[in-house]
Amino acid sequence: MRVIPQVDLKAGLCEVRSEVLKAISETIDSGWYILGAECKDFEQQFSAYCGCQYGVGVANGTDAIELILRALGIGKGDRVVTVSHTAVATVAAIQRAGAEPCLVDICADSYTMCPDSLSAFLKGSDTNTVKAIIPVHLYGYPADMNRILEIANQHKIPVIEDCAQAHGASIDGKKVGSFGVAGAFSFYPTKNLGAIGDGGIFVTNDSKIYESACMIRQYGWRERYHSEVCGINSRLDELQAAILNVRLNYLDEDNKKRRRIADQYSKQLVDAGVKLPNQVKDRFEHVYHQYVIRIANRDQCQIEMEKRGVKTAIHYPLPVHLQKAYEGKVRISREGLSKTETVCKEILSLPMYPSLSCEDVNYVTETFKQSL
Ligand SMILES: *Cc1c(COP(=O)(O)O)cnc(C)c1O
Repeated sequence: MRVIPQVDLKAGLCEVRSEVLKAISETIDSGWYILGAECKDFEQQFSAYCGCQYGVGVANGTDAIELILRALGIGKGDRVVTVSHTAVATVAAIQRAGAEPCLVDICADSYTMCPDSLSAFLKGSDTNTVKAIIPVHLYGYPADMNRILEIANQHKIPVIEDCAQAHGASIDGKKVGSFGVAGAFSFYPTKNLGAIGDGGIFVTNDSKIYESACMIRQYGWRERYHSEVCGINSRLDELQAAILNVRLNYLDEDNKKRRRIADQYSKQLVDAGVKLPNQVKDRFEHVYHQYVIRIANRDQCQIEMEKRGVKTAIHYPLPVHLQKAYEGKVRISREGLSKTETVCKEILSLPMYPSLSCEDVNYVTETFKQSL
């Protein structure tokens, strides 16, 4: 039986194997393994790619969010608004910074932060305690930044973008990560730009955030062995940076392949009676970290597809506010999170990775139709 995985990390790396091995080998020979030339180079290349002035390489995407918050002086007693329909990392980072996560609802068509829900939440709270808003560009689709920024600006609250699933996505040609005060990215191997291990970065145009975070990521040092502030250890190592320097050259090409795959899915599923990913706003450039559809009998469909060799996934089966660690412990929008709670029962992530062939996609959509 033909088997199609939901994601294939090895395939993407094998295509650039010799270049990556050369980069690893050169890093070994450099004799410098933490915060050296590779990291600096990557910070410059990646921030420029996003249209930002500065980049701070860190150990992972969760730390990237935490460091931005800490650099902004956000911590105990402060509130930070985000969504519940996200990787738990977004909420964990807010807690790590010491702040209280507040969760608002999403739009059912885009799966990203609902501006109306955000606005209602802010009207109903003491906005002096709300110190940041973190929209998530989920599945590779940009959140409605124009409206979110408009609301945030009315209340003078900074916006931090969680771009962990959206490397290269844009609105009107402007890349995500460059809309708010800073944008956090993860290089976890499954992401659109992936390391061979953990890695993260955040980009910003704010020199104060940049300078502060550079200290905090390394024990609060400005000068070696002299801690000016309290810090942590969260650095992007040279090996991962060297690998990312190679892979960044292929990001646009890979995203193009993802879009081709998504187009084929959408054409073949247009009459299948399922909700397809949002395509109404063509100014929004989707990078399809995931191709997510909505279907009422999701669980049964997933089982049937699995029997026929097609692996799918659910991102995510349970919203953060309903998970054991968080239930009753995070503040949620007074109106409740009805869209968040409905959507998680119906979403299904089809196989998605740049090397997925036309024939593979044909097989997935045929299998899907047989599984309905
Ligand atoms: C992956 C991810 C993160 C965290 O990244 P790590 O590198 O795993 O810490 C944060 N937010 C979202 C939406 C993610 O998908």
